[in-house]
Amino acid sequence: MCGVFGYTGKSVANDMVFQGLKRLEYRGYDSWGIAVNNDGKIQMFKDIGEIQEREGLKELPQTTTAIGHTRWATHGGVTVNNAHPHMATDDKFTLVQNGIVENFSQLKTKLEKLGYKFTTQTDTEVIVKLIEEQSKTTEDFEIAVKKAFKLLEGRNTIAILRINGDILAVRNGSPLVIGKGKDGIFLASDSLSFAPYTNDVVLLDDYDFVKISNGKLHIENVLTGKEKKIVVQKLKNTYTNIEKGKYEHFMIKEIVEQEKTIFNATEYTQTELKPLVQAIQEAHRVYVLGAGTAGFAAGQIAYFLRNIAKIDTQEVRSYEFNTYKNILKKDDLIIAVSQSGETADTIEVLEMAKKHGCKIASIVNMLGTTISRMSDFKYYTNAGPEICVASTKVFTAQCAWGYILAKTIVGELKEAKKNVTDLSNLLTKYFSEKTYSSIEKIAKVLKNKEHMFVLGKGENAYTALEGALKIKEISYKHIEGFAAGELKHGVIALVAKGTPVFGIISNDEDCKDLVSGMEQVRARGAMTIGIGDSKFSKLEVFDYFLVVPQVEEISNISNVIPFQLISYFLSKELGNNIDKPRNLAKSVTVK
Ligand code: GLU
Repeated sequence: MCGVFGYTGKSVANDMVFQGLKRLEYRGYDSWGIAVNNDGKIQMFKDIGEIQEREGLKELPQTTTAIGHTRWATHGGVTVNNAHPHMATDDKFTLVQNGIVENFSQLKTKLEKLGYKFTTQTDTEVIVKLIEEQSKTTEDFEIAVKKAFKLLEGRNTIAILRINGDILAVRNGSPLVIGKGKDGIFLASDSLSFAPYTNDVVLLDDYDFVKISNGKLHIENVLTGKEKKIVVQKLKNTYTNIEKGKYEHFMIKEIVEQEKTIFNATEYTQTELKPLVQAIQEAHRVYVLGAGTAGFAAGQIAYFLRNIAKIDTQEVRSYEFNTYKNILKKDDLIIAVSQSGETADTIEVLEMAKKHGCKIASIVNMLGTTISRMSDFKYYTNAGPEICVASTKVFTAQCAWGYILAKTIVGELKEAKKNVTDLSNLLTKYFSEKTYSSIEKIAKVLKNKEHMFVLGKGENAYTALEGALKIKEISYKHIEGFAAGELKHGVIALVAKGTPVFGIISNDEDCKDLVSGMEQVRARGAMTIGIGDSKFSKLEVFDYFLVVPQVEEISNISNVIPFQLISYFLSKELGNNIDKPRNLAKSVTVK
């Protein structure tokens, strides 16, 4: 969370940072700020809300060096004062941070005892004051920064702008990457944010200390002091498809893109999948990890591995993996699922599993990110940038990749690809005005409902969880997804007259149970909405039915799409901020 962006070069740095922050806004969008260096003076502009042209911003002098930040508050409310950058008491440097200083209250108490006065509620200000304190014992500012950084606990990445025009940064845990453009050097939380200017990147490791001074780049390890050789790598395809085009929102654009992205995720050959297939076959046990939507995709991938490939697989939410720690063996294999490749909860498990000696595989959407770099087997969803904070196309791409992986294990990659191609073709027809108007009709009915439930069973159990999450994220309605079997064990107590209950139904062995669950809620007055195979559309148990394209074995992937569309049209109806829902951020780099 939080976006960090810095630039120094021939172009107007203010504009470069402003544009860069706009592209990083998905990481956090409660407040933002830009600092420029001009004639030995640092000037800043900060604001809350959306990153947009502002009078005060125009008043900043045009300079060649600047840093900026878009915030997702962890410590201290959303105010201009708490927004980054944070200026030093003597105005000689300013600092931005991505992460959480876990020992911030201890450090703050110590600093306060030393006489430091705090003007914000952030943990970030602690870093600023800590650097000031360290500066008392050394003339060398860089040494003070390194010393202060070593006192921080937690995953923290910082960037500093000095009055002499240098940009300094230290990375630990939270992402940071360097871009080497023709006319300047970039420093940012992701490579997409400077992709219009360069695809040449220098990937940073944890504890890398960066100095950009007079157009020169220097990197060293903050712990060992050892200088790092600068290796420039070219990233492929980073700047594609980043505009809304003819669509009103990124969300609907990304939903429609699924007709292609499902297919793109499966464009791996037998040879490319073989190393992972082999590792899975040799593993004692496979764990599939993720958090949020990626956690549900992990569930779906584990479902495919168990049910198609008969592999002993356990899905686990990354943030709960500790409860498996005692049974983790070195010949277990971990598959990490992440859109951003920077999910803090997941990275933490991977660090632990690596120490255990486990092999790691990953399926990630963003290139050059931490999770891929930690993996022995790296795979990409290839869905292109997903800008809307709520994940749609990346979720289905993750699931589709899991499907071809499972099918490859049983020697059926060709059949799997055919199924995915068939689904892609069906989706092209599905995304039509006819579909949208039937969804809009339901969205209007749901507008005034406060509580809703989604039931799915077997292959559709995770679809139910993801379907509910999608609606929750943007409409802010209370909606819960359940495995249908859970119903009688408690959930049914919440069903009252008119409560909307969705039932996801495929033509499979679980369809009867699903129908009987829906009968039970209907008997208690629920408004029932069926989602799935047209075969069931005429059943009396459903008040409404949304037919979804079905391809055997992967209908659980397409069945999530109506939920994405309901979420979109319902939120539109409610007037919510669709691409940037409240309190959320796309890349969850803090715990
Ligand atoms: N802890 C910092 C703040 O609250 C940065 C938060 C983040 O990286 O998400 O301002």
